[in-house]
Amino acid sequence: MKTEQTKLLIIGAGPAGYTAAIYAGRAQLNPVLYQGPQPGGQLTITTDVENYPGYPEGVLGPKMMEDFNKQAARFGTDVRWGSVTSVDFSNSMHKVIVDKELEIHARAVIIATGASAKWLGLESEKRLNGSGVSACAVCDGYFFRKQDVAIVGGGDTAAEESLYLSKLCRKVYLIVRRNELRASKFMAQRVLNTPNLEVRWNSVTDEILGDKTVTGVRIKNVNTGEMNEIPIQGFFVAIGHQPNTSVFSKQIELDEFDYIQTKPGTAQTNVEGVFACGDVQDRHYRQAVTAAGSGCMAALDAERYLARG
Ligand code: NDP
Repeated sequence: MKTEQTKLLIIGAGPAGYTAAIYAGRAQLNPVLYQGPQPGGQLTITTDVENYPGYPEGVLGPKMMEDFNKQAARFGTDVRWGSVTSVDFSNSMHKVIVDKELEIHARAVIIATGASAKWLGLESEKRLNGSGVSACAVCDGYFFRKQDVAIVGGGDTAAEESLYLSKLCRKVYLIVRRNELRASKFMAQRVLNTPNLEVRWNSVTDEILGDKTVTGVRIKNVNTGEMNEIPIQGFFVAIGHQPNTSVFSKQIELDEFDYIQTKPGTAQTNVEGVFACGDVQDRHYRQAVTAAGSGCMAALDAERYLARG
């Protein structure tokens, strides 16, 4: 297998990975960055981003990531296509295999592989993604203000996002597959006490309706089999996220939900010289701006680590 040496390897090309690259590039570390299977990350499957500071008119997610990419390249990051297929962090020189054909020896590694939203798996969900279907209420809820929307899920994310939507939208339907919420009692109570938020219990999504944009949802009662169509303009999925950590799981400490654990207030993992930033280590905030902030932390921590020699 071909081998190569580098000071700093960054894995992942979302806001976290690119911000780490910009900082590391400006610190003359000449990082190598692998983009992975979804170059640009989750923002490439969204439309307008209106909550990232510095863009008063908003910006398209894919365009923003293109700009991140250019900015990283401008400061000397070697941005490459390719996915990491295995790692060996047992020695101080960290080994990372790319596409099963290139072995990179890196003194420091920044993991920024993100997380992926879980989807229901319906054809209509895929077809209408970005045209009324979204997995992020905080990102896309604003486009449905004063309209009717539905959201699927019963955990804290669904509770939090349905409450968020209830402040913007005329009516919010929360579609829950059981007869109770998994969310914390406090959140569940707030959901139940919100007048324009209606919970449809024991219900699963049979189909999202609409040709070019969402016009409704057909739900099925799991006890009676009864179908119901609800007219809506926006459909949100909030059934959890999966951090992209499977390739690291035997090498690095993960929490009970498979997110990478970092030492509080730093980007340091339990392995010396390996850092993590962005959604792969954050199951709470999951915003582009928080990911970018933690990417900066990872680069500064890596720079300090490398300076120690
Ligand atoms: P969870 O895994 O906690 O909840 C997922 C929810 O989606 C469950 O209610 C589950 O139903 C439902 N679900 C899963 N698959 C399907 C499906 N195919 N169809 C319909 N419904 C489905 O994920 P969350 O993202 O909500 O939360 C992740 C973690 O983050 C939790 O520990 C949570 O407490 C935490 N969190 C905390 C917050 C806070 O403290 N403010 C905010 C957000 C998250 P079922 O219940 O039947 O399994």
